[in-house]
Amino acid sequence: MEPLFEFQGWIKKAYRQGPIFGRYLKRLEESAQFSAEKLKRLQNRQLQKMVHHCYRNIPYYQDLFRQLKLTPAHIKTIDDLEKLPFMEKKIVNENYDKLIARRRKNILCRLGSTSGSTGTPAKFFRDYGSINFENAVVWRHWRNAGDFGKKRITLRGDSIVPASQNEPPFWKYNRANQELLMSGYHLSLANSASYIEEILRFQPEILYCYPSTAYLLAKFFQQQKVPYRFDAIFTSSESLEPHVRAYIEDVFESRIYDWYGQAERVVAICQCKAGGYHIQDDYSVVELKDSAYGQELVGTHLNNFVMPLLRYRTYDYVSPRTEACPCGSAFRLVDRILGRNYSYILTPEGYRISITNHIPRGVENLLETQFYQEKPGELIVNVLTNGHFSETDRALLVRNTLEHTSPQMNVIVNEVQGIPRGPNGKFISIINKLEVMN
Ligand SMILES: [Zn+2]
Repeated sequence: MEPLFEFQGWIKKAYRQGPIFGRYLKRLEESAQFSAEKLKRLQNRQLQKMVHHCYRNIPYYQDLFRQLKLTPAHIKTIDDLEKLPFMEKKIVNENYDKLIARRRKNILCRLGSTSGSTGTPAKFFRDYGSINFENAVVWRHWRNAGDFGKKRITLRGDSIVPASQNEPPFWKYNRANQELLMSGYHLSLANSASYIEEILRFQPEILYCYPSTAYLLAKFFQQQKVPYRFDAIFTSSESLEPHVRAYIEDVFESRIYDWYGQAERVVAICQCKAGGYHIQDDYSVVELKDSAYGQELVGTHLNNFVMPLLRYRTYDYVSPRTEACPCGSAFRLVDRILGRNYSYILTPEGYRISITNHIPRGVENLLETQFYQEKPGELIVNVLTNGHFSETDRALLVRNTLEHTSPQMNVIVNEVQGIPRGPNGKFISIINKLEVMN
């Protein structure tokens, strides 16, 4: 056990589950029982508060309201939101400083950034209250599945041990959460026996993972004919395809509870005990905007006062479901979430890299970055630049790519005039023409 790591675990827990966390969780467990009517009243009340705050304290919205000749009196209900224009990542990047409430900025605020689905990272500021609120919503989701603080393994994209390490342990124990943090990066056929051995030793009841890491883990358990049962499996961050779900649930004799969210934290959708995907209507205001690809999720913050986003476009799409869910919740239902594309870069060592958002970080003059692979051991990085992309920028991009994929990778930076969008209009950060995961 590393004392520093353990200490950080406790600090993180104290911060994310601060004094207001408990109050939020209690309130959220109450509003989960609300009728649709009562939920709407709650949203309207919180929206009014947020709009007043934006009007008084945030330069970007002050200008916007002035231009549109609006005052908070014009936006009293969620139906009035359509008087405001949509917000998107580009606007956030161009107006970053003007979107921050100076008076709310303090040392307890944290910076978040978007994941790889956009190519160019965007930064978002979160305040202490909203971080605790987010965590309370996550806990409500876990508790719905019967997890009130069980032993768990986390197998996601976090950097747990150095990428260059090739001997176990590829994990660390976080005592604060009774959680074994396992590196998703190192999970490969060659290391699978050591992962299985450690899991059998630790005996976790909960698996918290990406669909892709859970799928791989299930493959290895099945290949080695080791039976294992989890009480619940929590997935997020990638699309969960029906055949992937069925396979994982079958191998681990467990139910998957999927979650959809995004770094901007404007929409949360989670799966209930009955399997329905519910928009968490007490988390934010979610509008469903018609489009050719389905209904786009557009979200308005109700809890982040340091950098609130009103009518933020996610470019993720859902198909709505009209029949009621047997669970009895009044939260709106959706059939499925489209647009969470999943792909990965395959390294010469056989690792699958699905998180690429940190690669372009720090590289100047880049507008968009896309990773393209069609030959083993080779990675093409398509870049759209602002025309000032220098040799230094290129060298840094190559260095970052090698560091986050593999030192053995042959990296080719390719300047392009534009990067075509995927079939649903969404940016695709990784295109892999190598064999697909089966
Ligand atoms: Zn339900």
